[in-house]
Amino acid sequence: MDQIKAQAGDSRDVRVRIAPSPTGRLHIGNLRAALFNWLFARHNGGTFVVRIEDTDRERSKQEYVDSILDAFSWVGMASDEPIVFQSQRTEIYNEQIQKLLDSGDAYWSDPLTEENGISVVRFHVPRDQAGVTFVDAIRGPITVSIDQIDDFVIARSDGSPLYNFVVVVDDLLMGMTHVIRGEDHISNTPKQVLLYQALGAKALPQFAHLPLILGDSGAPLSKRDAATAVLDYKEQGYLPQALCNYLVRLGWSHGDQEIFTQREMINLFDITDVQKAGAVFDLVKLRWMNGIYIRQETAESLLAYLNDILHVDVYAACPSWSHRQVRQLATLYQDRVLTLRELEAAIVQLYQGPAKIVVQEGFVEGSGKLLDVFLFEFNLLDEITKDLIEALIRKICADADVGLAALAKPLRYALTGSLESPSIFSLLEILGRDLVVERVAALRGVLS
Ligand code: GLU
Repeated sequence: MDQIKAQAGDSRDVRVRIAPSPTGRLHIGNLRAALFNWLFARHNGGTFVVRIEDTDRERSKQEYVDSILDAFSWVGMASDEPIVFQSQRTEIYNEQIQKLLDSGDAYWSDPLTEENGISVVRFHVPRDQAGVTFVDAIRGPITVSIDQIDDFVIARSDGSPLYNFVVVVDDLLMGMTHVIRGEDHISNTPKQVLLYQALGAKALPQFAHLPLILGDSGAPLSKRDAATAVLDYKEQGYLPQALCNYLVRLGWSHGDQEIFTQREMINLFDITDVQKAGAVFDLVKLRWMNGIYIRQETAESLLAYLNDILHVDVYAACPSWSHRQVRQLATLYQDRVLTLRELEAAIVQLYQGPAKIVVQEGFVEGSGKLLDVFLFEFNLLDEITKDLIEALIRKICADADVGLAALAKPLRYALTGSLESPSIFSLLEILGRDLVVERVAALRGVLS
């Protein structure tokens, strides 16, 4: 058997795939692999295909298929061709197994040599070649000596085929030119190369194994570090563009640029620029990036996203406020939050008002008097605008010969229950006369 030397992809149109197994929800590492495949396809005018690897009948679940597809649709990544399900390709695999049995490249094992005494189909590893070599686009040539590869199982006793076999049959028959996947599959690749040879492939796909995503400890990212399921990030209020921008930087870079439009990612992405070393997942940076994307949106679109994607109707949660008020508050708070859940919480908490009002350290003596003057004058304002309110507060403080904080601090606390908030002048304007008077009077009541 001739060893295949050439790496394909040069003359053929690029075809790549992401092949998740529905034995769990889509992992963040799988989304990054999908993204790299998708960008590579878009960059080269190629085709990106989603293939669901559901040959493991016991561990594969429909709910996971649904949730994987939900995750792809959330980030706006769609298969360019109908999604392929391995469970619907049994005949194809049977035929290819038979082909290998007929050619002597596979055999039914002797049950006496199997641990559990049951015959399975094993691949006949060609012992006449010294080793298996493939060129990885990220790592360069990788060679494994043939003695390190046992005659591995390609089908169970009931004839059902296993991963290394089906993945090669599919990638070959589906004409995949590049196989871009996690580094955990490097050890499978020599076996797969042997299968390509045995199945008569004219060329190998170009393999590219992506560095692992690591947690802080340097071990592969685990739930102890951060959520690992893509849809958890959706639930936690991350925007899909922000998550994808964050993920594209995990193992790939373009100078020190952090924020990329989708166009830029497509134009700049090159698989050979991916680094070999593991990439540490940094939740603080992801949150920062999400904040940047949140600030790029209009308040209206953020509220629509909360409603459509997270099923949170902020307008309905604040029934006595007008839509305009809610939008104005969203505009005010979107500068300060890092997730949409924080935006939702900020507006809803403001609506509900402070749970309990107590005198705060940092309120100056005479705060009660200042609030009295404020309430009196505020009620006299013809119009509640930010500018008039600001002028009023400045005047009251100047007259009393105190700094602005002496009044701003208790007002802020009265309205929000917190000593930190966006611009107090804007808040007073948006909340409007009645609510301001009600909340400020409540604080006045506990001050001496
Ligand atoms: N189903 C495999 C996985 O989820 C696919 C690996 C591959 O891309 O070949 O890890």
